[in-house]
This record gives sequence, structure tokens and C-alpha cells, in this order.
Amino acid sequence: MESVVIDGSKGEGGGQILRTSLALACITGKGLHIENIRASRRNPGLAKQHLACVQAAREISDGRCHGAALSSKVLDFEPGTVRGGNFHFDIGSAGSASLVIQTVLPALFLADKPSRVTVTGGTHNPLAPPFDFLSETFLPAIANAGFEANCKLLKHGFFPAGGGKIMFDIQPWQKSACGGRRTIDLCEPDEQIQIHARIYTAKLPAHIAQRQEKLLLQSKLNIQDIEHIEVTDSDGPGNCVMIRLSGSSPKVGTTVFTAFGMRGKPSHRVVGEVVSLAEDFFARGAGVDRFLADQLLVYMAISKTGCYTTSELSSHLLTNIEIIKQFLPIKFSADEQKRQYKVCCEPM
Ligand code: ATP
Repeated sequence: MESVVIDGSKGEGGGQILRTSLALACITGKGLHIENIRASRRNPGLAKQHLACVQAAREISDGRCHGAALSSKVLDFEPGTVRGGNFHFDIGSAGSASLVIQTVLPALFLADKPSRVTVTGGTHNPLAPPFDFLSETFLPAIANAGFEANCKLLKHGFFPAGGGKIMFDIQPWQKSACGGRRTIDLCEPDEQIQIHARIYTAKLPAHIAQRQEKLLLQSKLNIQDIEHIEVTDSDGPGNCVMIRLSGSSPKVGTTVFTAFGMRGKPSHRVVGEVVSLAEDFFARGAGVDRFLADQLLVYMAISKTGCYTTSELSSHLLTNIEIIKQFLPIKFSADEQKRQYKVCCEPM
């Protein structure tokens, strides 16, 4: 079996290198040997969330692996054939359920039949896509290229308690519609944006959401409405504030920015963080935000086409490009134009 050797210490040096490599090994049927896993992180090697990603990739592809243990820094993975079906993955910690989905989704889009995947873990974690981002930003963006999935939040899970549950229904990829090839083309910012906010609180005093609401209204953003979701079914406390930018064009979803509250972090910092993410996005006038920018690359590579503009070339984005190129004969370009970058994909 042809094998790809990946150095997990390169570039960003985090878990995304592992997740992208597992996804592409499943898609291409190539073996994966990865060393120095998460070498740039405080706690290098496989943590529970990454182990869940490895096990998930193994299960959907009927594959085999060696080195799949907590703290392991080296892994060998041999995928078998990816088959659609029903899968359940339990991270066993508050690790991000979204990142397990990020690992299996690309290959399940290429499977022979639809799949239903449920994942138990964190649904709203700092440093990972919150569920709302997946449902409102990410899925609508990849649907442009014919990758169709629906998702549902079954139970909220906040860091550190976890215990949330999400479900994804994934359809086999429809690469063309009405005779035309479908593609990601998110180069132009939407001109008619409506700004909404959402505050989640779980098992916390009422004054926190009241204060955050007041701070949001004092910001310079023209926020049209603020939704407060008081979560009662979570295993532990949680708080996050989202600003949701919804446009008029059906090809652009709602861009969701999130900041997380935590013990000792005052509300003005939480709200300040999310407001500046949204303000910065407006100021740059790019088509997609920095998080979506790194998450779209695998789908552009599978469909061998696609283009977007973004305000920065993050280290996640650049590292992901390098990993993808080790598996697939694909070219990415990133050209700077007026304080933003145009990222495009084409076959070699
Ligand atoms: P680790 O090594 O700890 O697993 P990592 O470097 O792989 O970390 P992160 O840098 O935390 O992981 O990012 C993982 C993914 O989560 C990236 O694809 C990034 O775009 C996405 N992400 C992080 N924060 C957000 C957010 N607020 N909204 C949407 N996506 C996010």
C-alpha cells in the first residue's frame, strides 16, 4: 500500500495536521505514517479528542492502526474501504465533537450511501468550531460544491463538562447540478448584511446574560436582535456570545463569530472579543472569515476547484494546504489583493 509520511511538527504543529491526514488517507486509500503528532502543543501527542478522531477514521474505513493510544506521538493508519452507514463516536471528555465530524465528513461524502453520525463530547468549545458555526457557516458554504449534510444539536456540551451530542446526516456528493459543475466561489462579500447576536448561558446567574446583552447594544455594530438561549440540559456551566452576520445571497450562509466566557473572564472582554472579530471582518471586506478559510480547503481539493477571499493566511490555512498537497495532485494559489488574499484551487 502506498504510504504518505507526515511530520506533525511542521507549520501549525497541532491536531489539525492529524485530522486532515486521516481524512485524506480515507479518501485516497493511501496509508499514513505520522510522526511528532501535535509537537507544537503544550501537551503533545494524541489527547482523547484526537484518539476519537483516529478511531472514527478507522471505523468508517474499516481500517487498521498502530500507535492509537493516549499521548502517542507516532501513528500508522491503513484505511480499508469507506462505507456509509450509522456511526456513533464518544470522545469520553469535553473534547470537541465538531473536530471529530471534521475528520470523517469528507470521506463520508464520498461513500457509497448516506450516513448518520452522532458524536458525544463538547459542542461549544473554545478553539474549535462551535455547533452553530458548523450548521450556519460551514455546511452552507460547502453545499455550494454539492456537499450536502444536515445537522442537529441533541444536547449542549460546554467545556469542561462536555457530555453534549450532535448528529449529522450526510448525503453522497453530488458534484454537478443541471449539467453544470458545482463549486465554492466565495470571493465577494455580501453587501446586505444583517447583524444578529446570540448568547448562550448554562447553569449561570441571570445577570451574566443581561450584562452581555447591554454591552452588545453599546457596541458600534448595528445589532438587530439578541437571542438569549438559556441551556438547562447541559452537564455543566457554560457561556458564549455569538455575532451572526447573515447576508442576502443564498450561496453565503451566516458567518458566526464566537467568544467564550469562563471563570474569571469579565463579560466586557468576552463581548469585546466577539465584537472585534466581526468589526475586523467588515473592515477587510473578504468573502470568508479566517476559520472557514482553513476548513474549506479539503472540499476545494476534493472537487479540484474553488475560490474565496479571506483577510489573512493563517498558519492553519498554510499548514492545511501543505498536508493536502502530500495526498492529492492539487495546486493552491494565494494572491494578495487590497488587504485580502484570494485563495484558489485547481488540479496539477
Ligand atoms: P489541537 O492540537 O489542540 O487539537 P489544533 O491546532 O488542531 O489544536 P485549533 O487551532 O484549536 O486546533 O483549531 C482547530 C480548528 O477549529 C480549525 O479548523 C479552526 O478553523 C477551527 N476553529 C477554531 N476556533 C473557531 C471558531 N471560533 N469558529 C469556527 N472555527 C474555529
